[in-house]
Amino acid sequence: MTLPATDRLPFKNSFAMLPPAFYTRLTPTPLPQPYLVAASQTAASLIGLDSAEFEQKQVIDAFAGNQPLPGSLPLAAVYSGHQFGVWAGQLGDGRAILLGEVDSAQGPMELQLKGAGQTPYSRMGDGRAVLRSSIREFLCSQAMAALGIPTSYALAVIGSDLHVMREAPESTAVVTRLAPSFVRFGSFEHWYYQDKQAELKILADYVIAQFYPQLQASDNPYRALLQEVTRRTAHLIAQWQAVGFMHGVMNTDNMSILGLTLDYGPFGFMDAFDPGHICNHTDREGRYAYKMQPQIGHWNCHALAQALLPLIGEVEQAQEALAVYPHEFSARLAALLHGKFGLTTLEAGDDALFDATLTLLQNNRADFTLFFRRLGDLRLEFTSDAEREAQDGALRDLFLDRAAFDAWAVQYRARLRREHSTDSARRLAMHAVNPKYVLRNYLAQQAIAQAQNKDFSEVARLLAVLEHPFDEQPEHEHYAALPPHWAGDLEVSCSS
Ligand code: AMP
Ligand code: MG
Repeated sequence: MTLPATDRLPFKNSFAMLPPAFYTRLTPTPLPQPYLVAASQTAASLIGLDSAEFEQKQVIDAFAGNQPLPGSLPLAAVYSGHQFGVWAGQLGDGRAILLGEVDSAQGPMELQLKGAGQTPYSRMGDGRAVLRSSIREFLCSQAMAALGIPTSYALAVIGSDLHVMREAPESTAVVTRLAPSFVRFGSFEHWYYQDKQAELKILADYVIAQFYPQLQASDNPYRALLQEVTRRTAHLIAQWQAVGFMHGVMNTDNMSILGLTLDYGPFGFMDAFDPGHICNHTDREGRYAYKMQPQIGHWNCHALAQALLPLIGEVEQAQEALAVYPHEFSARLAALLHGKFGLTTLEAGDDALFDATLTLLQNNRADFTLFFRRLGDLRLEFTSDAEREAQDGALRDLFLDRAAFDAWAVQYRARLRREHSTDSARRLAMHAVNPKYVLRNYLAQQAIAQAQNKDFSEVARLLAVLEHPFDEQPEHEHYAALPPHWAGDLEVSCSS
């Protein structure tokens, strides 16, 4: 007989082996009468569980934080950070509780319960997460993973009728998150700003030994760490830009030392293309607008560099490590854009073509995801303008100014012909990189509204669709539709 799921997770507790200054040991606050909202089979398989096991009371209790998981050493970690460009001082896990790490198909994976009650770092907060934001984090984590974008994963959402006050009273939940590490840029800033170099070094040595062992052989491993994190961050943000993802709160306390998408809050996916789009309603200045993300990523790496400087030694060394950002970002984005446009060769004018395309999308408020998906269906051969217009139909319909689209398409087709592109091969390649299904806000909102009425079936359906974002799934066509008019009025803010 197989052991119950809760006994099949052999915990190791590397982070808990750091000195006590790095965290506070504590137990989660029990969640009253917990029930399963959703579980991801994909995430469950990673750690050798079956999502069906989450129907069991024992498992629900464990992932609600009501029963200890054998072998875990629950703790809340301390960190600090820059929020909206301003030093915010000490923050820390105010509602997330780290259980320890378990083996996974991708190496050791830490398990964290988010929304599991107050900690010494809760400040004014209640330590809870509302069902709405928990479903958003759950769905988006798994959607990003399926898009091939580095991210923390989400295993399950356990709900409760316990209500907490946000703009209105809302029901609460606990999300189990998985990532090799939840260490943030702000974890380093914490020690730097307190002038505690011994702790700074312990943390850096821990991160290098656990996650970047190949850097130990370097002349200056701390400089190498900064450079590698800078490189990963640049690549991550290139991937966000290419898929139209906006994080919403790129504070340094939300920046992963592993280059993962972390801490899903008021995120959004681009609908009608607008580079100035701000997905976080509270971000009035647009610091974290879509077009700002690349430079904010670099800014955040500067903040990390500042914190690592006592270990790196020379300012020039830190500057050199940081200097890789612009090139790493542009090269990665260019490669992703070539893929999105179905191009297999490089031409001097490609950047101009990409820019012209984005301007055209912006002028027409064309849908970002649908544009690239439908672009894959474009054909090079036609015998008349009428035939071309008919072939281009669905793509062309995204543009108010059809003449501008037609003129653009002449340039694009000419570019494709120069590399002897074939329709079938290009279509296949483009559909493998341009998703048909992304987590549009209104889709999340529909699933949330039903879940708030205790019907969790839409969360499960949406998860299943989003876990295969590149597949046609004709039976789910409506999830790929343009957002309805009411979607424009949806507001997402930090209060979650
Ligand atoms: P975030 O912007 O969600 O990444 O959170 C910023 C900081 O606020 C982190 O230290 C969180 O742990 C903390 N925080 C956010 N919401 C709560 C809450 N409801 N209770 C306690 N702490 C919270
Ligand atoms: Mg955070």
